[in-house]
Amino acid sequence: RAKDVAANSYRLFDETMNNQAIELVSMAAKLKTAIEKNEFSLYLQPKIDFKTGKVRGAEALLRWFPDKGPPVRPDLFIPIAENTGMIVEIGEWVVREACLMAKRIQDLGHPDFAVAVNVSAVQFKHGNFEHIVLDALYVSGLEPQFLELELTESLFLEDEYDIAGQIGRLAAKGISFSVDDFGKGYSNLGNLGRFDIKTLKIDQGFIFTMFDSPKNTALVEAIIGLAKSLGLCTVAEGVEDEKTAAKLREVGADYGQGYLWSKPLPIDEFIDFVSPARNSAAS
Ligand code: C2E
Ligand code: MG
Ligand code: MG
Ligand code: MG
Repeated sequence: RAKDVAANSYRLFDETMNNQAIELVSMAAKLKTAIEKNEFSLYLQPKIDFKTGKVRGAEALLRWFPDKGPPVRPDLFIPIAENTGMIVEIGEWVVREACLMAKRIQDLGHPDFAVAVNVSAVQFKHGNFEHIVLDALYVSGLEPQFLELELTESLFLEDEYDIAGQIGRLAAKGISFSVDDFGKGYSNLGNLGRFDIKTLKIDQGFIFTMFDSPKNTALVEAIIGLAKSLGLCTVAEGVEDEKTAAKLREVGADYGQGYLWSKPLPIDEFIDFVSPARNSAAS
Protein backbone atom coordinates (compact mmCIF):
# COMPACT_ATOMS: atom_id res chain seq x y z
CA ARG A 1 0.00 0.00 0.00
CA ALA A 2 2.78 2.39 0.84
CA LYS A 3 4.03 1.66 -2.60
CA ASP A 4 0.65 2.72 -4.15
CA VAL A 5 0.68 5.99 -2.24
CA ALA A 6 4.19 6.66 -3.34
CA ALA A 7 3.31 5.90 -6.94
CA ASN A 8 0.27 8.17 -6.81
CA SER A 9 2.05 11.08 -5.26
CA TYR A 10 4.82 10.59 -7.75
CA ARG A 11 2.31 10.90 -10.57
CA LEU A 12 0.79 14.05 -9.01
CA PHE A 13 4.20 15.58 -8.57
CA ASP A 14 5.09 14.64 -12.10
CA GLU A 15 1.95 16.27 -13.52
CA THR A 16 2.52 19.50 -11.63
CA MET A 17 6.07 19.59 -12.88
CA ASN A 18 4.82 18.99 -16.35
CA ASN A 19 2.26 21.79 -16.21
CA GLN A 20 4.88 24.17 -14.91
CA ALA A 21 7.25 23.17 -17.67
CA ILE A 22 4.54 23.68 -20.30
CA GLU A 23 3.73 27.10 -18.86
CA LEU A 24 7.39 28.12 -18.91
CA VAL A 25 7.86 26.99 -22.50
CA SER A 26 4.73 28.78 -23.66
CA MET A 27 5.74 31.94 -21.79
CA ALA A 28 9.20 31.77 -23.33
CA ALA A 29 7.63 31.48 -26.78
CA LYS A 30 5.40 34.52 -26.15
CA LEU A 31 8.34 36.47 -24.76
CA LYS A 32 10.22 35.93 -28.02
CA THR A 33 7.79 38.07 -29.99
CA ALA A 34 7.02 40.59 -27.23
CA ILE A 35 9.42 43.26 -28.52
CA GLU A 36 8.21 43.21 -32.12
CA LYS A 37 4.58 43.15 -30.92
CA ASN A 38 5.26 46.20 -28.77
CA GLU A 39 4.09 44.48 -25.62
CA PHE A 40 6.71 45.99 -23.30
CA SER A 41 6.37 49.24 -21.48
CA LEU A 42 8.98 50.92 -19.32
CA TYR A 43 7.60 52.43 -16.11
CA LEU A 44 9.37 54.97 -13.93
CA GLN A 45 9.43 55.11 -10.14
CA PRO A 46 10.69 58.36 -8.59
CA LYS A 47 13.67 58.51 -6.26
CA ILE A 48 13.37 61.25 -3.67
CA ASP A 49 16.30 63.22 -2.28
CA PHE A 50 15.89 63.17 1.52
CA LYS A 51 17.71 66.50 1.84
CA THR A 52 15.51 68.50 -0.55
CA GLY A 53 12.36 66.37 -0.67
CA LYS A 54 12.51 66.65 -4.46
CA VAL A 55 12.61 64.04 -7.20
CA ARG A 56 16.23 63.33 -8.11
CA GLY A 57 15.60 60.69 -10.73
CA ALA A 58 13.78 57.44 -11.34
CA GLU A 59 14.29 53.73 -11.63
CA ALA A 60 13.08 52.23 -14.91
CA LEU A 61 11.01 49.08 -14.35
CA LEU A 62 9.92 46.82 -17.16
CA ARG A 63 6.28 45.85 -17.64
CA TRP A 64 4.97 43.16 -19.96
CA PHE A 65 1.41 43.29 -21.28
CA PRO A 66 1.00 40.23 -23.50
CA ASP A 67 -1.41 40.60 -26.37
CA LYS A 68 -3.59 37.90 -24.90
CA GLY A 69 -3.87 37.37 -21.18
CA PRO A 70 -3.06 39.42 -18.09
CA PRO A 71 0.14 41.39 -17.43
CA VAL A 72 3.09 39.27 -16.32
CA ARG A 73 5.22 40.36 -13.36
CA PRO A 74 8.96 40.91 -13.97
CA ASP A 75 9.78 38.43 -11.19
CA LEU A 76 8.21 35.79 -13.45
CA PHE A 77 9.42 36.72 -16.91
CA ILE A 78 12.88 38.19 -16.19
CA PRO A 79 14.27 34.81 -15.01
CA ILE A 80 12.90 33.18 -18.19
CA ALA A 81 14.46 35.91 -20.29
CA GLU A 82 17.75 35.35 -18.46
CA ASN A 83 17.71 31.56 -18.86
CA THR A 84 16.91 31.72 -22.55
CA GLY A 85 19.33 34.54 -23.30
CA MET A 86 16.49 36.76 -24.48
CA ILE A 87 17.40 39.22 -21.75
CA VAL A 88 20.20 40.52 -23.99
CA GLU A 89 17.75 41.78 -26.60
CA ILE A 90 15.12 42.86 -24.08
CA GLY A 91 17.76 44.61 -22.01
CA GLU A 92 18.97 46.49 -25.06
CA TRP A 93 15.43 47.72 -25.67
CA VAL A 94 15.21 48.79 -22.00
CA VAL A 95 18.47 50.77 -22.06
CA ARG A 96 17.52 52.58 -25.27
CA GLU A 97 14.02 53.36 -24.06
CA ALA A 98 15.28 54.55 -20.65
CA CYS A 99 17.81 56.95 -22.22
CA LEU A 100 15.18 58.37 -24.57
CA MET A 101 12.74 58.84 -21.68
CA ALA A 102 15.33 60.52 -19.47
CA LYS A 103 16.29 62.92 -22.25
CA ARG A 104 12.64 63.74 -22.85
CA ILE A 105 12.09 64.49 -19.16
CA GLN A 106 15.23 66.64 -19.01
CA ASP A 107 14.03 68.62 -22.00
CA LEU A 108 10.73 69.27 -20.21
CA GLY A 109 12.59 71.36 -17.65
CA HIS A 110 14.33 68.86 -15.37
CA PRO A 111 17.95 69.17 -16.53
CA ASP A 112 19.36 67.08 -13.66
CA PHE A 113 16.99 64.16 -14.05
CA ALA A 114 18.79 60.78 -13.94
CA VAL A 115 17.53 57.33 -14.83
CA ALA A 116 18.55 54.02 -13.25
CA VAL A 117 18.34 50.84 -15.30
CA ASN A 118 18.40 47.26 -13.98
CA VAL A 119 21.00 45.11 -15.69
CA SER A 120 21.07 41.31 -15.43
CA ALA A 121 24.37 39.51 -15.02
CA VAL A 122 23.79 37.65 -18.32
CA GLN A 123 23.27 40.94 -20.09
CA PHE A 124 26.26 42.62 -18.46
CA LYS A 125 28.57 39.77 -19.45
CA HIS A 126 27.34 39.65 -23.04
CA GLY A 127 30.09 40.80 -25.38
CA ASN A 128 28.21 43.72 -26.83
CA PHE A 129 27.09 45.36 -23.59
CA GLU A 130 29.44 48.35 -23.54
CA HIS A 131 28.65 49.17 -27.12
CA ILE A 132 24.90 48.90 -26.53
CA VAL A 133 25.02 51.31 -23.59
CA LEU A 134 27.21 53.88 -25.32
CA ASP A 135 25.06 53.67 -28.44
CA ALA A 136 21.85 54.21 -26.44
CA LEU A 137 23.41 57.35 -24.93
CA TYR A 138 24.58 58.58 -28.30
CA VAL A 139 21.24 58.04 -30.05
CA SER A 140 19.23 59.68 -27.25
CA GLY A 141 21.63 62.53 -26.63
CA LEU A 142 21.56 61.80 -22.89
CA GLU A 143 24.81 62.64 -21.13
CA PRO A 144 26.43 59.65 -19.41
CA GLN A 145 26.32 61.15 -15.91
CA PHE A 146 22.53 60.86 -16.01
CA LEU A 147 22.58 57.11 -16.55
CA GLU A 148 22.95 54.74 -13.63
CA LEU A 149 23.21 50.97 -14.00
CA GLU A 150 21.90 48.75 -11.20
CA LEU A 151 23.76 45.49 -10.77
CA THR A 152 23.04 42.73 -8.28
CA GLU A 153 25.43 41.54 -5.60
CA SER A 154 25.94 38.11 -7.12
CA LEU A 155 27.67 39.64 -10.14
CA PHE A 156 30.46 40.94 -7.91
CA LEU A 157 31.32 37.42 -6.81
CA GLU A 158 32.02 36.15 -10.30
CA ASP A 159 35.52 36.22 -11.58
CA GLU A 160 35.41 34.38 -14.89
CA TYR A 161 34.71 37.68 -16.59
CA ASP A 162 36.41 41.04 -16.21
CA ILE A 163 33.52 42.64 -14.30
CA ALA A 164 35.68 45.26 -12.60
CA GLY A 165 37.28 46.23 -15.91
CA GLN A 166 33.99 46.69 -17.71
CA ILE A 167 32.54 48.72 -14.84
CA GLY A 168 35.71 50.81 -14.78
CA ARG A 169 35.59 51.57 -18.51
CA LEU A 170 31.93 52.62 -18.43
CA ALA A 171 32.45 54.58 -15.20
CA ALA A 172 35.33 56.41 -16.87
CA LYS A 173 32.83 57.62 -19.47
CA GLY A 174 30.67 59.05 -16.67
CA ILE A 175 28.10 56.31 -16.17
CA SER A 176 27.45 55.43 -12.54
CA PHE A 177 26.87 52.05 -10.94
CA SER A 178 24.85 50.88 -7.99
CA VAL A 179 24.45 47.61 -6.14
CA ASP A 180 20.78 46.60 -6.14
CA ASP A 181 19.13 44.70 -3.25
CA PHE A 182 22.22 45.27 -1.12
CA GLY A 183 22.43 42.98 1.89
CA LYS A 184 19.90 40.49 0.57
CA GLY A 185 22.28 37.97 -0.87
CA TYR A 186 25.74 36.86 -0.12
CA SER A 187 27.65 40.13 0.04
CA ASN A 188 31.33 39.93 -0.16
CA LEU A 189 32.09 43.25 1.46
CA GLY A 190 35.81 42.99 0.87
CA ASN A 191 35.10 42.54 -2.79
CA LEU A 192 33.07 45.73 -3.12
CA GLY A 193 36.13 47.92 -2.80
CA ARG A 194 37.46 46.57 -6.10
CA PHE A 195 34.61 48.03 -8.11
CA ASP A 196 33.88 51.55 -9.22
CA ILE A 197 30.48 51.83 -7.52
CA LYS A 198 28.65 54.96 -6.39
CA THR A 199 25.54 53.74 -4.64
CA LEU A 200 24.17 50.98 -2.42
CA LYS A 201 20.46 50.31 -2.77
CA ILE A 202 19.43 48.87 0.58
CA ASP A 203 17.21 45.86 0.05
CA GLN A 204 13.51 46.35 0.76
CA GLY A 205 13.57 43.49 3.25
CA PHE A 206 15.61 45.63 5.66
CA ILE A 207 13.30 48.60 5.21
CA PHE A 208 10.04 46.65 5.67
CA THR A 209 11.27 45.16 8.95
CA MET A 210 13.17 48.19 10.19
CA PHE A 211 10.95 48.74 13.24
CA ASP A 212 10.44 45.08 14.11
CA SER A 213 13.32 45.18 16.56
CA PRO A 214 16.07 47.58 17.67
CA LYS A 215 18.54 45.22 16.00
CA ASN A 216 16.86 45.67 12.64
CA THR A 217 16.99 49.44 13.00
CA ALA A 218 20.66 49.16 13.94
CA LEU A 219 21.28 47.05 10.85
CA VAL A 220 19.92 49.75 8.54
CA GLU A 221 21.98 52.37 10.35
CA ALA A 222 25.05 50.17 10.03
CA ILE A 223 24.60 49.77 6.27
CA ILE A 224 24.25 53.53 5.89
CA GLY A 225 27.33 54.04 8.07
CA LEU A 226 29.30 51.52 6.02
CA ALA A 227 28.28 53.24 2.80
CA LYS A 228 29.30 56.62 4.15
CA SER A 229 32.69 55.44 5.28
CA LEU A 230 33.27 53.97 1.81
CA GLY A 231 32.13 57.24 0.21
CA LEU A 232 29.01 55.65 -1.28
CA CYS A 233 25.46 57.01 -1.56
CA THR A 234 22.49 55.08 -0.24
CA VAL A 235 19.02 54.55 -1.65
CA ALA A 236 16.40 52.97 0.60
CA GLU A 237 13.97 50.86 -1.42
CA GLY A 238 10.44 49.96 -0.38
CA VAL A 239 9.65 53.03 1.72
CA GLU A 240 5.91 52.75 2.32
CA ASP A 241 5.17 55.14 5.18
CA GLU A 242 6.14 58.48 6.76
CA LYS A 243 7.54 56.92 9.91
CA THR A 244 10.06 54.89 7.90
CA ALA A 245 10.98 57.90 5.76
CA ALA A 246 11.53 60.07 8.84
CA LYS A 247 13.80 57.49 10.45
CA LEU A 248 15.80 57.01 7.24
CA ARG A 249 16.24 60.76 6.91
CA GLU A 250 17.37 60.93 10.53
CA VAL A 251 19.99 58.21 10.10
CA GLY A 252 21.36 59.81 6.96
CA ALA A 253 20.03 57.85 3.97
CA ASP A 254 20.50 59.92 0.82
CA TYR A 255 17.54 58.85 -1.30
CA GLY A 256 14.26 57.03 -0.84
CA GLN A 257 12.11 55.09 -3.24
CA GLY A 258 8.75 53.50 -2.53
CA TYR A 259 4.98 53.56 -2.54
CA LEU A 260 4.97 56.42 0.00
CA TRP A 261 5.81 58.75 -2.88
CA SER A 262 4.69 56.75 -5.88
CA LYS A 263 4.49 53.32 -7.43
CA PRO A 264 6.19 52.88 -10.84
CA LEU A 265 4.30 54.98 -13.39
CA PRO A 266 3.90 55.04 -17.18
CA ILE A 267 5.92 57.94 -18.62
CA ASP A 268 2.98 60.33 -19.07
CA GLU A 269 1.85 59.90 -15.49
CA PHE A 270 5.44 60.25 -14.34
CA ILE A 271 5.74 63.55 -16.20
CA ASP A 272 2.58 64.75 -14.44
CA PHE A 273 4.11 63.66 -11.14
CA VAL A 274 7.23 65.80 -11.64
CA SER A 275 5.50 68.68 -13.38
CA PRO A 276 6.04 72.16 -11.86
CA ALA A 277 2.31 72.57 -11.18
CA ARG A 278 2.34 69.61 -8.87
CA ASN A 279 5.67 70.51 -7.29
CA SER A 280 4.67 74.08 -6.51
CA ALA A 281 1.31 72.91 -5.18
CA ALA A 282 3.10 70.48 -2.93
CA SER A 283 5.59 72.98 -1.53
P1 C2E B 1 14.26 45.85 -8.17
O1 C2E B 1 15.20 46.37 -9.18
O2 C2E B 1 14.79 45.66 -6.80
O3 C2E B 1 13.04 46.87 -8.18
C1 C2E B 1 12.29 47.24 -7.06
C2 C2E B 1 10.97 46.51 -7.02
O4 C2E B 1 10.25 46.90 -5.84
C3 C2E B 1 10.03 46.83 -8.18
O5 C2E B 1 9.28 45.66 -8.46
C4 C2E B 1 9.13 47.91 -7.58
O6 C2E B 1 7.88 48.03 -8.25
C5 C2E B 1 8.97 47.40 -6.17
N1 C2E B 1 8.66 48.46 -5.20
C6 C2E B 1 9.00 49.76 -5.25
N2 C2E B 1 8.58 50.44 -4.15
C7 C2E B 1 7.93 49.54 -3.38
C8 C2E B 1 7.26 49.62 -2.09
O7 C2E B 1 7.18 50.68 -1.44
N3 C2E B 1 6.74 48.46 -1.61
C9 C2E B 1 6.82 47.28 -2.28
N4 C2E B 1 6.26 46.19 -1.74
N5 C2E B 1 7.45 47.15 -3.49
C10 C2E B 1 7.99 48.28 -4.02
P2 C2E B 1 9.00 45.18 -9.96
O8 C2E B 1 8.78 46.37 -10.84
O9 C2E B 1 7.94 44.13 -9.89
O10 C2E B 1 10.37 44.52 -10.39
C11 C2E B 1 10.87 43.38 -9.75
C12 C2E B 1 12.28 43.09 -10.14
O11 C2E B 1 12.37 42.74 -11.52
C13 C2E B 1 13.24 44.29 -9.98
O12 C2E B 1 13.64 44.43 -8.64
C14 C2E B 1 14.35 43.89 -10.91
O13 C2E B 1 15.23 43.01 -10.27
C15 C2E B 1 13.61 43.14 -12.01
N6 C2E B 1 13.44 44.05 -13.17
C16 C2E B 1 12.47 44.97 -13.41
N7 C2E B 1 12.68 45.61 -14.58
C17 C2E B 1 13.82 45.10 -15.09
C18 C2E B 1 14.57 45.34 -16.30
O14 C2E B 1 14.29 46.23 -17.12
N8 C2E B 1 15.71 44.58 -16.48
C19 C2E B 1 16.11 43.63 -15.57
N9 C2E B 1 17.21 42.92 -15.83
N10 C2E B 1 15.42 43.39 -14.44
C20 C2E B 1 14.30 44.11 -14.20
MG1 MG C 1 16.54 47.82 -9.26
MG1 MG D 1 16.00 46.30 -5.53
MG1 MG E 1 15.88 42.98 -7.68
